[in-house]
Amino acid sequence: MKSNKQRRQEIKAQRLRRIVKKTRAVNARPVDRPAGTVEVTPVRLRATTSYGIPDFVRRGYYQDRPFHCKDCGVEEIWTAAQQRWWYEVAQGDVWTTAVRCRACRRQERTRKAEARRIHLEGLAMKRAQP
Ligand SMILES: [Zn+2]
Repeated sequence: MKSNKQRRQEIKAQRLRRIVKKTRAVNARPVDRPAGTVEVTPVRLRATTSYGIPDFVRRGYYQDRPFHCKDCGVEEIWTAAQQRWWYEVAQGDVWTTAVRCRACRRQERTRKAEARRIHLEGLAMKRAQP
């Protein structure tokens, strides 16, 4: 009989093997990486249940990505280094991309924190009533 901890480790290892297998064909060929791009390390990406392979994994490197902020419409560049950080360090979902500029992102974070505070205060007040 295996412990839950052992089982969890097995599942994690299996998941990792699956990602490596899925991306091996992609990584077998040498990646001709243009200047200013950052290499992708597939095993460091967060596991996904999708059968698809994101563009940057197929390509083998991150490249700067211009986008328009969904709030103010300003054009900003999501740099290759920022993408690597988001996907490999922060463990962001591989299907997500940047949608807000820096200023709007900060504003949105404040707005969410404030909304959360008000919500929790409301809950506390409701629970305090008899
Ligand atoms: Zn913006």
